[in-house]
Amino acid sequence: MSNLFFKREFSSGSTIFAEGDAGDCAYIIEAGQVEIATSNKDDKIVLAQLGKGDLFGEMSLIDGLPRNASAQALVDTTLTVVTNDQIESRLQDADPVLGLLIRVILERFRSERKLHFHHLLEQDNRHLLAPQDSVNQSRHKALDNMKLEGELRRALEEDEFVLHYQPIVDLASGLVAGFETLIRWQHPERGLLSPFFFIEMAEQSALMVSIGHWLNKQACLAQQLFEKTVRACSPDAKAPFVGLNISGRQLKEPGFAAELGALIQETGTNPSHIKLEITESLLLNHDVALNWIKACKDRGFNITLDDFGTGYSSLSYLHYFPIDTLKIDQSFVLSMLDNPRSMAIIRSIMKLAQELGMDVVAEGIEKPFELQNLRAMGCTYGQGYLLSRPVSESSALNLLSGSRKLVDL
Ligand code: C2E
Ligand code: CA
Ligand code: CA
Repeated sequence: MSNLFFKREFSSGSTIFAEGDAGDCAYIIEAGQVEIATSNKDDKIVLAQLGKGDLFGEMSLIDGLPRNASAQALVDTTLTVVTNDQIESRLQDADPVLGLLIRVILERFRSERKLHFHHLLEQDNRHLLAPQDSVNQSRHKALDNMKLEGELRRALEEDEFVLHYQPIVDLASGLVAGFETLIRWQHPERGLLSPFFFIEMAEQSALMVSIGHWLNKQACLAQQLFEKTVRACSPDAKAPFVGLNISGRQLKEPGFAAELGALIQETGTNPSHIKLEITESLLLNHDVALNWIKACKDRGFNITLDDFGTGYSSLSYLHYFPIDTLKIDQSFVLSMLDNPRSMAIIRSIMKLAQELGMDVVAEGIEKPFELQNLRAMGCTYGQGYLLSRPVSESSALNLLSGSRKLVDL
């Protein structure tokens, strides 16, 4: 439904909103021209004429008050709608002092604006209100982000996200042991987009929670499908696991474990075959993270510490959190050949993991030299372009119904 409101068209002369209307959204002008005006008895007083890229109607979004000016399309106009909840979730997440400041400044602005609009009229108000370059830049960035968020919302409704699967190989046997799920966006115009273009933006908004629900379900379904495919060929083979990347937003969700628990029941998935990948940066809030991890472990899920070694206190995390698997960050593997210290660090991580009874996955294996050394050090699992790039679901299924072997060791 909200999809309908994502972009709106107004023909020349039509009213976008009138003074006194409830303010439930703001607009960004994609094309056209909009006049903002207020009335003084019977006189119409034009406050601004806005064009492509301008934002208007934003005040009501923050304080929920009725519109104190009207907006009219001067020519045929296309607008992107910025909804209430997009702003609301940002305000909730913002430092409370900042939230308060915004509201107070807005209150003052509203009352002063009433007093000064006559004065403003006599001058070039576009010039008066023109922000400085740096303000302009951050304003454009904020607007771009809001537009991207709208697009992401639509992408979720239109089912444009897809999962790719990167094989994780048992380095002792050379067989595929499981997959890491990696999200992509099949954009209607821009093609297949990497998570680098959108995941950070999604994480800044409440949208990541909805995308997370979708990811959880897909991961459970994929694990089931992979397990059936393997068992059809060799009934005694170990079930493949599926790694799921968890964002900071999801880690703050108190109902996460219960929701995932319900999903595995619904899909018949064994929770120990779902590996939840969390990065060290998500563990800074110890208490929240520990409760989340415990709730997931109580339900039988496996916890993987992703990008291990890149945080501030990697070792203390191991002491404090019940982790099952360590994923050695790509940067250590990448520098193995040139930097003997990286090799020594990997060897130490491996020893430590062994003593603590944890599995180790080495990420970002690109060269045979790296693979050979990791095997020689007794690393349990490997992942990287040398073994396989992330592949589509059908390619993953082909791999599982074939030999499952990615390297001859
Ligand atoms: P990550 O979790 O560290 O994922 C590993 C990334 O390294 C993937 O990039 C993968 O394609 C890439 N990679 C794998 N092998 C190699 C290699 O040999 N060399 C190099 N240079 N790179 C390799 P991708 O798919 O672009 O994902 C990037 C990041 O986006 C992920 O880093 C993760 O932080 C995030 N991400 C991806 N999918 C999801 C998701 O479903 N949920 C969340 N919350 N984040 C995701
Ligand atoms: Ca990961
Ligand atoms: Ca990683």
